[in-house]
Amino acid sequence: MNYKNITNMKIHKNDQVLVISGKDRAKTGKILRVLTSENTVLIEGINLKKKHLKPKRSGEKGQIVQVPAPLHASNVKLICPKCAKAVKSGYKIEKGKKYRFCKKCGQEI
Ligand SMILES: [Zn+2]
Repeated sequence: MNYKNITNMKIHKNDQVLVISGKDRAKTGKILRVLTSENTVLIEGINLKKKHLKPKRSGEKGQIVQVPAPLHASNVKLICPKCAKAVKSGYKIEKGKKYRFCKKCGQEI
């Protein structure tokens, strides 16, 4: 566990994000998984790669499915659920509790 990486990661699972670079630029999607050790995220419907599935039994056909490939966290921007804009987020510590807030509207997100 790398504590530093975890505290730097401002994106959480189920967040809505905007892709700001790469082939899926300007698309939005939901975070499926955060890989803190690599600082990458998996986003629903973004950065899809074809994956060949082997047939489970002989005689069946293999399938091609599209699965999201990890995208570096610096390529996405959080969409604030309160003001619905792609924003920067920060952390505040108040009364010993750490929470994330939107730098645009100031609300806890
Ligand atoms: Zn906001």
